[in-house]
Amino acid sequence: MNKPVIICIDDEATVIESLKIELKKAIGEEFIIETAEGGADAIELVDELLKEGTEVAVVLSDYIMPDIKGDEVLRRIHFMSPNTLTIMLTGQADLEAIGNAIKNARLYRYLAKPWQPEDLKLTVVEAVHSYLQDKKLTEQNLKLQELNIELKRLTETQAQIIATRTAELEEVNKELLRLVNLDGLTQVANRRRFDEYLSLEWLRAARELQCLCLIICDVDLFKKYNDTYGHLKGDDCLKQIAKVIEEIVKRPADLAARYGGEEFVVLLPNTELSGAFRVAQNIQKTIADLAIPHQASYISPYITASLGVAGIIPDSAQSPLSLINAADEALYKAKDQGRNQIVINDILLADESEN
Ligand code: GH3
Ligand code: MG
Ligand code: MG
Repeated sequence: MNKPVIICIDDEATVIESLKIELKKAIGEEFIIETAEGGADAIELVDELLKEGTEVAVVLSDYIMPDIKGDEVLRRIHFMSPNTLTIMLTGQADLEAIGNAIKNARLYRYLAKPWQPEDLKLTVVEAVHSYLQDKKLTEQNLKLQELNIELKRLTETQAQIIATRTAELEEVNKELLRLVNLDGLTQVANRRRFDEYLSLEWLRAARELQCLCLIICDVDLFKKYNDTYGHLKGDDCLKQIAKVIEEIVKRPADLAARYGGEEFVVLLPNTELSGAFRVAQNIQKTIADLAIPHQASYISPYITASLGVAGIIPDSAQSPLSLINAADEALYKAKDQGRNQIVINDILLADESEN
């Protein structure tokens, strides 16, 4: 890169000569000293230098010159090269011109003619240092700005990646939670979900003194069905039954689940025993309506189920097991009495009403 340039402008050749000599002595190593004998020449010179990529660090200009006055020359140079520092040399104290140059050319200093060599030297050296410092600051600022942009870009990218990953993980977690609670064959809730939900609803019913009902529904003579039609048909039959049970159980708080094998459970929070009985009737009828042939059954030509129903207003001394046992007892009774029927066990509620 070319060395930066200092330009001295004066219409008197002797002045220019002595300026050149003095400045060369002071800063000639780091800077090139150029001269111009008038404003127009100076402006042309600046234009050429800028075009070839040379920096103009400092311009010293006389004020009174035949073609263009010093303050105007400096104004135009400042317009062409805003980082250039301007110094005006003026024979008489022309305050207005100095004011103009300060306003329009960001005049750095002015020196009264005739100048003291030491004064000139100090002023120009100071201007040169100031110019170099400004340049360094500008470069650092630029670098900082670039770094900031890069940092912002990285932060945004990082945030975007994190947001995408989080959303993906949330989706996977949701799916995992769904799978953990779902029976693989029938796609209704599984035993795990049922046990968890029963514990919750048990506590709620105890708190709110509400009746909690349970239906256990067991497919009749299902072993014979499998033996007759094969396990795959058996699976298919269980899927159909699970689907209709889930469709019957409509209230948001109700839960239908596969309890195991060919047994399904329905938990009905805040439901009277009579209501649970109606749901059980509905399940029995809908399974009959499916009319799944079961030629090995001695009860009906079609698949049937037995259902046990129980209800309780829980208290903290009891465990949810008492409700399961009561419904199971009723189911056992339904099987014992000939299957394809509903039996209600009201012992828990009867106990309750006696208290
Ligand atoms: P009961 O009327 O007394 O309930 O007679 P059952 O044959 O239905 O009862 P049991 O408990 O003797 O037999 C249940 C059968 O259910 C045995 C088993 O092969 C079948 N089973 C259990 N789970 C599945 C399953 O996921 N798929 C199929 N296809 N069959 C199953
Ligand atoms: Mg069974
Ligand atoms: Mg059975």
